[in-house]
Amino acid sequence: SLKITDECINCDVCEPECPNGAISQGPDIYVIDPNMCTECVGHYDTPQCMEVCPVDCIITGVEESREVLEERYRIISGQK
Ligand code: SF4
Repeated sequence: SLKITDECINCDVCEPECPNGAISQGPDIYVIDPNMCTECVGHYDTPQCMEVCPVDCIITGVEESREVLEERYRIISGQK
């Protein structure tokens, strides 16, 4: 899953781009729910939030395999 560092400027550009609805505004900065983040696996070739963040403050949080991310995508999308 990806995570947002404290460089976040609360611009709200990333939130609508997340196909999993994993991004929300936290108490201080935007946050990514690791249980909802597939790094855009199942939707796009590249993580959309990382593409649009103007300050590049979205990084890999927990390193996860493609298989783990695909499994999460299936669970989230109700395919099993
Ligand atoms: Fe924060 Fe980047 Fe998202 Fe803007 S796009 S809210 S700076 S993480």
